[in-house]
Amino acid sequence: MADALILIAEDEPQIRAILDAYFVREGFRTVTAEDGPTALQHHQMLAPDLVVLDVKLPKADGFEVLGEIRRRGETPVIMATALDEDLDKLAALRMGADDYVVKPFNPLEVVARARAVLRRGRREAASIKRRGPLEIDTAAHAVVVNAGDRRTLLDLTLTEYRLLAHMIEWPTRSWTRGELLDACMPDSDALERTVDSHVSNLRRKLEAAGAVGLLGSVRGIGWRLFAP
Ligand code: CA
Repeated sequence: MADALILIAEDEPQIRAILDAYFVREGFRTVTAEDGPTALQHHQMLAPDLVVLDVKLPKADGFEVLGEIRRRGETPVIMATALDEDLDKLAALRMGADDYVVKPFNPLEVVARARAVLRRGRREAASIKRRGPLEIDTAAHAVVVNAGDRRTLLDLTLTEYRLLAHMIEWPTRSWTRGELLDACMPDSDALERTVDSHVSNLRRKLEAAGAVGLLGSVRGIGWRLFAP
């Protein structure tokens, strides 16, 4: 984490210099920007691991910059707001900032927040798997289907979740009912055909969320999760 690249977008030279010095002292790499367009340009060219973003920036303010960064992806952002900008603070968090600090701040506090956000980001990245339209969070046991503009959190039983989490590891493999039974109900003496009803329910939920044709039967064998 210490070699993470931090983009510091701040127009006040003194604050910018202090933040820069503290991050560098703590072992981070840094790049700075003094206005919104420059921050966005650095973000695009250099792909920083985290952005410290002042709300009141010239040319494009922090909210515009944050909105564009979010359109591009999931780079963690810590917003820096002045004490009298409570409404801005709330709006920032709702718009997808990962944290915020209030000016005047202790630079060490900003570095500590950045560390925490980076750690959190890495944990999340480690537990989330994406295959085609599916997003499985193995820490939260949650599955999201992304279909077009729709993002649907599936309401799955534990057995359905286990089936999907197992099959997603080998996206193009075909599974027999016996294999799936072992994978998702190891302690049960259920019959192989009970797998069919769990898989059918899972398929119905996937299709309702827009993932049509993803989970299909394989004649004479069993089931298969197709990775489109
Ligand atoms: Ca400012």
